[in-house]
Amino acid sequence: TSHLATRFRFDPNPESLPADERAARMADPGFGQLFTDHMAVIRWSEADGWHDAAVTARKPLVMDPASSVFHYAQEIFEGLKAYRLDDGNTALFRPEANARRFRDSARRMAMPELPEELFVESIERLVDADRDWVPDGSGGGSLYLRPFQIATSVFLGVRPSSEYLYMVIASTVGAYWKGGPKSIRIWVSQDYTRAAPGGTGAAKCGGNYAASLLAQKEAIARGCDQVVFLDAAERRWVEELGGMNVFFVFEDGSIQTPPLTGTILPGITRDSILTLARDRGMTVREEPYALDRWRADAESGRLTESFACGTAAVVTPIAEVADPDGTFRIGAGGPGQVTTALSDALQAIQRGRAPDPHGWLHRL
Ligand code: PMP
Repeated sequence: TSHLATRFRFDPNPESLPADERAARMADPGFGQLFTDHMAVIRWSEADGWHDAAVTARKPLVMDPASSVFHYAQEIFEGLKAYRLDDGNTALFRPEANARRFRDSARRMAMPELPEELFVESIERLVDADRDWVPDGSGGGSLYLRPFQIATSVFLGVRPSSEYLYMVIASTVGAYWKGGPKSIRIWVSQDYTRAAPGGTGAAKCGGNYAASLLAQKEAIARGCDQVVFLDAAERRWVEELGGMNVFFVFEDGSIQTPPLTGTILPGITRDSILTLARDRGMTVREEPYALDRWRADAESGRLTESFACGTAAVVTPIAEVADPDGTFRIGAGGPGQVTTALSDALQAIQRGRAPDPHGWLHRL
């Protein structure tokens, strides 16, 4: 792989946006709408393995309509960010962790596993080509990177594809919540679950998200911002949101999050927060937490804060939880003290404003 890595072809985009137009668009990029000039591509075939690595102009794909990804959803993806540091340099946050999770997802979906160093190098090369698209950190913006891998065999049989396309695209994004973190109201899905034991819940495959959309739509219809799922077996234990893990903060200062039992996504933000909390000597539990306990503890005051976390929004306080039994409020409704402290500590490392004892920043 290392010899393939050194053979990354670079075809610069001759139609890259002029600097003034790029700057105008980057002023208010939103989330996941503004794309850069380039993309990274690596192909896989049974005969050649990983080959034909390149960074080229970002352009539409031409694909046969029988390509198996369109029919059986053999697809995985990742999400991570490149940050502009205060010293002007750019850094990725824990890309090796995303590389590992991408391999784990590939294995679960019977796809070939991209070597971790090639995953990281593809991102390094793309960010290098599109470095002008990384916003300065003052407004909370970053460059969101979306690696993904799709099955491209032209064949309607239900079996693993014999050809794959791995790509990375990049999108300049603003602060997820304009004007500081917004506290969200979440809906507990009654009719739908996200993942069953033995299913694909721990893999970052597109199908998990397709299956969550109806539940998310229902949450919106109920006046909520996001959906939270319960476990499929007992419909009792809180698992995670559609795209974020969940944490509970208690009166005694301890924190808790559901364990990684195969039905929730092992979030890198989740892992980072657990690590930061342990570093601070906090009591941390990775244990199941029941919905009825959440309600009772919020009402009694034993639970003081809850938050959701993920790459996109980093940390989002949860103010209210709604289900057919009614709504319960958490703490004072705003961002709590522990939530704010952990969120600030994590973002200080991501922006290069604090020591990085675990070597999470991958400087470019
Ligand atoms: N759960 C789900 C279902 C997600 O899609 C995400 C976003 N990748 C997360 C949790 C948070 O993961 P991370 O912190 O690695 O972004």
